[in-house]
Amino acid sequence: MGLSMLGRGLLTLTSIPVILGAVVERAPGPSAQVETIERDVVIIGGGAAGSHAAVRLREDYKKSVVVVEKDVILGGHVDTYYDKNGAPHDYGVQCYFTYDDALDFIRRPALNLTLLPGLSRSATGFSATVRNIDFTTGKELANFTAPDAMVEIGAIVAMYQVLTSKGYDKMIEPGFYNLPAGPQIPDDLLLPVGQFAAKYNVSAALAKMYESTGGGPQARDTNFLNIMTLTFLQSFSPSWMKVFFGAADLFYVQGGNQKLYDAIATLLGSDVLYSTTVTSTERTPTGVKVTVRGPSGTKIIKAKKLLMAVPPTRENLAPFDLNPEETDIFAKPTYGRYGTAIVTHPKLTPGQELHNMPTSAVANPYAPFLNTAHVLTFSSYGTDTDLFSIGVSSSGSSYAAFDERAATRVAQQSLEKMAAVGTLPDLGCKKLAVVVWSDHGPGGFGVTPAEMRAGWMDRMYGLQGKRSTWYTGNAIAIDFTTQLWKMNDETLKRMLAAW
Ligand SMILES: Cc1cc2nc3c(=O)[nH]c(=O)nc-3n(C[C@H](O)[C@H](O)[C@H](O)COP(=O)(O)OP(=O)(O)OC[C@H]3O[C@@H](n4cnc5c(N)ncnc54)[C@H](O)[C@@H]3O)c2cc1C
Repeated sequence: MGLSMLGRGLLTLTSIPVILGAVVERAPGPSAQVETIERDVVIIGGGAAGSHAAVRLREDYKKSVVVVEKDVILGGHVDTYYDKNGAPHDYGVQCYFTYDDALDFIRRPALNLTLLPGLSRSATGFSATVRNIDFTTGKELANFTAPDAMVEIGAIVAMYQVLTSKGYDKMIEPGFYNLPAGPQIPDDLLLPVGQFAAKYNVSAALAKMYESTGGGPQARDTNFLNIMTLTFLQSFSPSWMKVFFGAADLFYVQGGNQKLYDAIATLLGSDVLYSTTVTSTERTPTGVKVTVRGPSGTKIIKAKKLLMAVPPTRENLAPFDLNPEETDIFAKPTYGRYGTAIVTHPKLTPGQELHNMPTSAVANPYAPFLNTAHVLTFSSYGTDTDLFSIGVSSSGSSYAAFDERAATRVAQQSLEKMAAVGTLPDLGCKKLAVVVWSDHGPGGFGVTPAEMRAGWMDRMYGLQGKRSTWYTGNAIAIDFTTQLWKMNDETLKRMLAAW
């Protein structure tokens, strides 16, 4: 989450009153005093899934909750940067699309928000001049012709029809509760997406899909076409396809998408512990004890249920008391890393979008795939500002290695390549300035087709409710906000049924 939000987040933090309903216990020892918080549900992570679940559980189902969030604000992948004039610039989540009744969540009166049609970025009406440049050579592609939009949309429609006619959409949306057991998963869903597209003659859909999802699934893989279709569909779901042919609508929150999570933060008040992470857990079939550490020290949370609303990566699970079954399941997935930022450089021209387009796309514009860690675009916010947004995908680099420094280096090197061949003016030793950076964490979380066939997802979903622990979030469901909220609805229904 961006540093620009730190100030506002800290304000939120310091305004948090003493934890309501907390029981203060004296721990053994002469001076140690550890606060104990008792709640029905402890939620780990306050992104799209965790924040939504907290509101639904507390406001609609009258369960007491506490959210453990490592950042200083709620919202996860939502990033709104407010410039010096107070204008919002979303550089993470751009929109919420219609999916069942999910948008009603934003419309609830308690949040007092206004939804506007379109992408947040389209609010200014600005449209950039696109320059297609191979960032590995730095050269502008003079003879590049963009794919035919009608051909691309036609292929997306055709792919949607394949998925829905075979019932694949119902197996994967919004979560994988209806996915058949490993041996019965349709072969199609385990094919590399390139083979799936070729089999159904929809390869022309992939360029647009890549542009919209490249950073997510491709964070883990060097070759986009090799990504398992099921993993790919997590980031380009059948319901998201509907947006491209006008069968679903887009909205954003007036004033910046972060406003949604600021409103949720206000509503939840002291039920969120910010800048806080788990240090240990003890989970049993009848309840959990979670020890956390935050700005005011260590606290113990006792709850009837735990909802994991962070990706179950090795990093996030390190403090958890995993049993052998859980250890085995969570050892399998691989994932890369993705980041977004707002940057400036005096040699970037306001009003332009520099699009990273491999030279091979001149011959085949329908396959503009990049196979190294890369920036997809330097995208101007307008002719009257020097701000550009970038997204940086690790594409095969290890998760730990691809931090902000590594990603910024990739972006700086791209500019240097362009300057070296005259595509950009001489950089004059100036480095890219990162105005605000946001770590979007694991991308493409998932296992191999063989592990899926062997039942990894059944075993993963089979953990739901065991040891009082439930799972939600983008790593194990469709990776779009409104679809995750419906995944939550299903998960919470099951959790409450098992109360
Ligand atoms: C750049 C980008 C743009 C996107 N644009 C859109 C879009 O326009 N529309 C859309 O619908 N979807 C979009 N998505 C996808 C959408 O953002 C995700 O589906 C959604 O945010 C996932 O929610 P989540 O709660 O599972 O995870 P997250 O939103 O990542 O939330 C996880 C939360 O847990 C916290 N956390 C992580 N680790 C820990 C820990 N160990 N302890 C405590 N807290 C922790 C994080 O700080 C975060 O707040 C986009 C994603 C990205 C990366």
